[in-house]
Amino acid sequence: MPITILPNVTHDTKPALFVSVLAAALFSMSTHAATLIHAGSLIAADSDKVQKNMTVVVEGNMIKEIKSGFIAPSENDTLIDLSDYTLMPGLMDMHTHLTFEHSGPGTYLERFVLNEADFTIQAVGYAKTTLEAGFTTVRNLGDGYNETVALRKAINRGAIPGPRVFTAAKSIATTGGHADPTNGQAKIISTDPGPKQGVINGVAEARKAVRQRYKDGADLIKITATGGVLSVAKSGQNPQFMEDELQAVVDTAKDYGLTVAVHAHGKEGMRRAIVAGVDSIEHGTYMDKEIFRLMKKHGTYYVPTIMAGNWVAEKSKIDGFFPALVRPKAAEIGPKIKQTFAAAYKAGVKIAFGTDSGVSAHGDNGLEFVLMVEAGMKPIEAIRSATYHGAALLNELDRLGTVEAGKLADLVAVKGDPLADITEMQDIDFVMKDGNVYLQK
Ligand SMILES: [Zn+2]
Repeated sequence: MPITILPNVTHDTKPALFVSVLAAALFSMSTHAATLIHAGSLIAADSDKVQKNMTVVVEGNMIKEIKSGFIAPSENDTLIDLSDYTLMPGLMDMHTHLTFEHSGPGTYLERFVLNEADFTIQAVGYAKTTLEAGFTTVRNLGDGYNETVALRKAINRGAIPGPRVFTAAKSIATTGGHADPTNGQAKIISTDPGPKQGVINGVAEARKAVRQRYKDGADLIKITATGGVLSVAKSGQNPQFMEDELQAVVDTAKDYGLTVAVHAHGKEGMRRAIVAGVDSIEHGTYMDKEIFRLMKKHGTYYVPTIMAGNWVAEKSKIDGFFPALVRPKAAEIGPKIKQTFAAAYKAGVKIAFGTDSGVSAHGDNGLEFVLMVEAGMKPIEAIRSATYHGAALLNELDRLGTVEAGKLADLVAVKGDPLADITEMQDIDFVMKDGNVYLQK
């Protein structure tokens, strides 16, 4: 069967969602039309259990109920036969960059020759690719010009297909920090960006940058607490925020109901951020036992992005792929993330799935499952990290993350058993988001 794309009917705000749910409920009372999905295996992801031969009943954009056995559809119902498939919640990637894709040396030129409209149109394609890979929800952790706020609106009003986007808009850094957009530029073109552009120094600017993002329509805050691999700067791991700046970001974000995601490779920057009360550490390369303990104490999530580590390590072997300042960082930091993940998992740190796609190619997100399992994670836990734990990190467990009555109908399926062969997660055969089917192979 060819790919089926139906119009999308999500809404941008919860009150609007409530109205649409109410409308769907009234509609269903008059017609009782439902979609029945026969699932050979069901991973509901609220536990480690797998249930056999189940029927998931979808009405409007909601999961109405889940029944044992294959229930026969009544006259007005639609049947989706996935009796040879494993059905699970829509997948959630907690670290993407939908506006770009790193494709080689030329990528560093893009910021000088592309405008926000170019990045926005690129994002439209990457959003579709991501949804068709089974990812019905993503966090976008840094764009250039708030393009992903516009992207989210277009997806939510049904203009274009894509995942539910929770965006940090433009990341926040300090001067010369990982997300300072002017790093490595000659004086003749360089500017001195401030809180509006996501560069802060001191407590007042930290507060302003968070409030600016709230005003711009961001769903959460992303900061770069240490150096990073791909920025044109010397250190990939030095601490780049002072304690008072971190505290100002976290306290201000809390006032607006925004969570805080933190890019960090080096230990000291991570330690300061965790103590300040951030919600997730991204990459986390140089974590050790002390950091694991701190994360467990503060309930901080780890989003490993093993794929990004592997990708930069591999590309660092190619002459001329990265600028001279970047190459040694990529070679040193990249290969370490997988072992850090293995140790964090063993230590019992909470893990949410994330790929940093945009560094690697969009649509390849499922490879992260394979790398997580290679590093020692149980397949069911890898799947739960990309469903239940994604929703928990987003504070969206009331609507997303598991297959349960009353949740939004975001569902994916693979042929065969992903718990026996995790590479199945790289080949998603069925995607439903908000009750609409976007992919049916
Ligand atoms: Zn990233």
